[in-house]
Parts: sequence; structure tokens; C-alpha cells
Amino acid sequence: MNDLSFWEKVAFQTSYDLIVVGAGITGLSSALFYRQSHPGRSVLVLERGAAPRGASTRNAGFACIGSITEHQADLDRIPEEQLKTRIKRRFNGLELLKSTLGADAIGYKPCGGYELFRSQAAFSEAKQQIPKFNRWLLQLAGEEEVYTTGRLNGYPVIFNRLEGALHPGRMMKALIDRAKKAGIEIRWNAEVQQVVPAGFVLLDDGTEFAGDQVLVATNGFVKNLWPGTEVTPARGYILLTAPIDNLEWRGTFHHDRGYLYFRDVGDRLLLGGGRNIAEQEEATDQLGINLKIKEYLVRFAEETLKLPSGWKIEQEWSGIMGFTENKMPVVKHMEGRIFTAAGLSGMGISIGMQVGSEAVELLRSGSKK
Ligand SMILES: Cc1cc2nc3c(=O)[nH]c(=O)nc-3n(C[C@H](O)[C@H](O)[C@H](O)COP(=O)(O)OP(=O)(O)OC[C@H]3O[C@@H](n4cnc5c(N)ncnc54)[C@H](O)[C@@H]3O)c2cc1C
Repeated sequence: MNDLSFWEKVAFQTSYDLIVVGAGITGLSSALFYRQSHPGRSVLVLERGAAPRGASTRNAGFACIGSITEHQADLDRIPEEQLKTRIKRRFNGLELLKSTLGADAIGYKPCGGYELFRSQAAFSEAKQQIPKFNRWLLQLAGEEEVYTTGRLNGYPVIFNRLEGALHPGRMMKALIDRAKKAGIEIRWNAEVQQVVPAGFVLLDDGTEFAGDQVLVATNGFVKNLWPGTEVTPARGYILLTAPIDNLEWRGTFHHDRGYLYFRDVGDRLLLGGGRNIAEQEEATDQLGINLKIKEYLVRFAEETLKLPSGWKIEQEWSGIMGFTENKMPVVKHMEGRIFTAAGLSGMGISIGMQVGSEAVELLRSGSKK
């Protein structure tokens, strides 16, 4: 029961054709694509933060389709066809992101991506896989000779010419602007407490909304609203250095199956990942810094990247991702009028918009009751 006035109920507690919970890349692009394909329908996005407060504004900004050792590690867990679907989703998602918002608006740089190897043996093993993945990219995306080898700053590398970097803050701002221009209503500071299969969405202050369909797009936080979901939270850590004179690492880089990554941000170096050395501790939806991971990354910066003495961490932060067992996103009907699009498994910048468009397809065909 809430104590809203008659006027408040009429003006601010109306029904919508679609209610989306979560204003990350998945929620907002689902809302945008839904509205574009159904211009007359009403769409409400509810976000708990005063701005998006999930992984979409706390990530590293890699627009990537995956390194060779990441793909090989995935092949130990999933069949070839599933991995091909994932690579295609990443490629299509990035194309969709660039064409929807514009490369300039998201600060996109087509700098390519390097996978860096510390051991010649690991490099030689990965190198053998290049012809296979180049064949796949030709088949899946029509792109030739995507992966090539080289040397950089004394290390063997595999270069992926399709990868790039973007500015997650600018990307999300551009997406919010697009959503607003499309006539989507976004309510900030609106933390959803409960979604009810009959289509009701309840906020913590008792406000209630009714949706013909409700899409829960809260990724690493889905369990809070739908405890039975297969999506589990996973925390990621990022550090950003103070400006470094003549920074030697320019572009985007992956290491060790994609678990560790770094890139330049102007004269600063952004370094993140390392979740694999404390996987259990990082299976949380609470922000925070794991000192074991921080020390591991600092050691990597000094011993492997050989940053000049006196380099400093200027800023550090964490963010919460949502993972599934096989790293495939969950886009499904849950119960009644409730649907979900979540579990982007650490690659949501690449696949977020693609998942959003898949969610809209599901809503179009999905059951309501
Ligand atoms: C450290 C880090 C680095 C990463 N680097 C990359 C990268 O370089 N490239 C890449 O492709 N991916 C990267 N990712 C993954 C990527 O950021 C995510 O996969 C993607 O942002 C997920 O988008 P989303 O919209 O599904 O979820 P989110 O962006 O998490 O959005 C969910 C939204 O729901 C809101 N919410 C949650 N609960 C409620 C509630 N009860 N009521 C209302 N609102 C609620 C949250 O505040 C949030 O805004 C990284 C992630 C992290 C954490």
C-alpha cells in the first residue's frame, strides 16, 4: 500500500506498453529498438541510479571480438557452433552500436587489438590457431586476414585488425539522448523492489507501475529481482594511471585468455581484469577493491609493461558483471509478462545492442500471460 494522492496516481503511476528495468546498454537499447519498431507504444525505463549505475559506465571500453587464447579457452567449455555464434554476436553488436549512435559520438577508435604473450611457447601454440580463426571470421563476417602476428615492445603479439576502443561514458550519454529523443521516458533514482508476473513493477517508495510487458535488464543484479535466474554476479577491477610521458603502450591489449587487459586513455594507461586469480571472492554484486588483484596488476605493470619508475595510480574502481555458465546471454521469457535480457558475461559493450535487438524480437513474439 502506498500513500500517493489521487493526482499523483493519475499523472505518475500510469500503465506502459513496455517497462524496462535497468538503464545500461542492454536496457536502453532494448527500449530504443522497441520504440523504433512500435512508434505509437509507451516505454518507461526505471533506473536505480541518478545516472546508469551498472557495468555500462564502469567498463574498460574495449570494442572487441576476442583474442585467440580466449577463443581457445572457450572451446574447452563449449562446442564450436556456440563459439561461432558468440563471435558473430560480438561482430554484429559492434557494427550495430557504431551505426546506431555513430562512431564519433561514442569516441570509437579503430586502433585494432593486440594479444600479448610473455612466453614464446604460448605464442607458438596460439599462432597455430590463426588460420582456423581467420577462416571463421571470413565465413562469419566476410573479413579476410583478421589475425596476424608481430612483435611489440619486445614481446610477440597477435594483432586483430577488427578491434577498437571507445569511451563508455560518451557512449551511454549518446544512448540516453537517443532514447529520450525517441520519446522514451526514463526515471532515475527509481530502484525496483519487485516485479510481479502479472506485469506490476514496485519501487521502494511504494510507487507501482503496470506494464503490458516488463523486461528486466539488470545484468549482474538480476538475482535481486528474480532469484532463480542462471545469471551470477562477477566483479571486475580497473586502475587508471596518472599521465605517463611517452607512454609506450598505445591501442588495446589482451593477455592470458582475455583475463587481463590494458589500453591507453590519452597519456594514461588503463589496466584491468585479473578476476581469475580470485574467482570465488569476486562472485559478488558489491563494489569494492580486492587487494590481491590490485597487487597482481601492479606487478604486471612493473615487470611486464615496465612502466617508468614513479608511475602512479590516479583512479581505481570496480564494476559488476553478470555471467552465465557458458557465457551466453540469457534472453528469455520468465513468467507471465516478465522477460529478461541479461548475463552479458563481460562482453556487453560488444554484444549489448545485439542482445537488445534480440530482446525486442522476443517481446514481439513472446507470451504475455
Ligand atoms: C570492470 C569491467 C570492465 C569491462 N570491460 C568491458 C570491455 O572492455 N568491453 C566489453 O564489451 N565489456 C566490458 N565489460 C562488460 C560490460 O560493461 C557489460 O557486459 C555491460 O555493460 C552490461 O550491460 P547491461 O546493460 O546488461 O548491464 P548494466 O550496465 O550493469 O546495467 C544494469 C542497470 O540496472 C540498474 N539496476 C540494477 N538493479 C536495479 C533495480 N533493482 N532497479 C532499477 N535499476 C537497477 C543498474 O544500476 C544498471 O544501471 C566490463 C565490465 C566491467 C565490470
